[in-house]
Amino acid sequence: MCQFCVQHGEGQRWYFDARNYSEDLLSDLRRRKVIRHMLGNVDELRKVPEQLPAYDRLPSFLQWFFRWQMRRKLRRDHFGQVLPLEDVERIFQMATSIVRIPCVCRKVTTGEEKRFCYGISMGPAGGKFVEILQGGGGSFLLGPDCRGFETLTREEALQAFRQHERQGLCHSVWTFLTPFIGGICNCDRADCLALKSAISHGLPAIEKGHGRASVNLQECTGCRRCMEVCQFGAVFYSAGRKKAGIDASKCYGCGICRSVCEKNAIALS
Ligand code: SF4
Ligand code: SF4
Repeated sequence: MCQFCVQHGEGQRWYFDARNYSEDLLSDLRRRKVIRHMLGNVDELRKVPEQLPAYDRLPSFLQWFFRWQMRRKLRRDHFGQVLPLEDVERIFQMATSIVRIPCVCRKVTTGEEKRFCYGISMGPAGGKFVEILQGGGGSFLLGPDCRGFETLTREEALQAFRQHERQGLCHSVWTFLTPFIGGICNCDRADCLALKSAISHGLPAIEKGHGRASVNLQECTGCRRCMEVCQFGAVFYSAGRKKAGIDASKCYGCGICRSVCEKNAIALS
């Protein structure tokens, strides 16, 4: 259990606590403003890819300070954590509405509207979350570049996530003014600013999930498929043993390696 679970989960994984999706939390006017701002302002995010190389050039004590400040701010405002598909499925079982929206990161990094983000609500017909998104006048989500929202059934959303899993995308859950959980994304280090910041620059833009992968050496054939899909560089190959292995210190617990292993040789625990 992580610190977040203690603070916001009451003994279970924090994102399984229904109170963290509540409509009451969404009644907070400041939170509504934050949601509109985060999902609507592409221009502000455009600065991030330019700022990352500048961060790399800072002296180490300033990098340390920047990381400390960033972790504090993100935990308070926009905490993101990796989660495996089975945890997404469990969240979807609690959800009353799932809305697919365009990914703001990918709009910035690719210039295109790509749909890998899902707003989750426990209120009827999308509840206040959809109302807030629709009320974001002038935002990217309502602008001419966006095809609007798509409401999905639980089964459609699950199918879409299984497809994202096959594409090797890493699922992540996000707060909007913690502890309110607003959505689940499907991240790729090439396009996702959080993953890029974490993997390529060592920034605490997204937290590791609860599990760590391990390989059953008796089952592993050494095909290395798992190495190809791990976005975090956590899988290695031992030429001596002709088997894959996992560096637990690099593993984020996304479970993508597990889903491509035809021998079922990988477990998350
Ligand atoms: S995908 Fe499975 S069988 Fe192939 S190397 Fe990885 S753990 Fe071994
Ligand atoms: S080793 Fe597997 S579970 Fe760990 S980060 Fe890589 S793909 Fe995800």
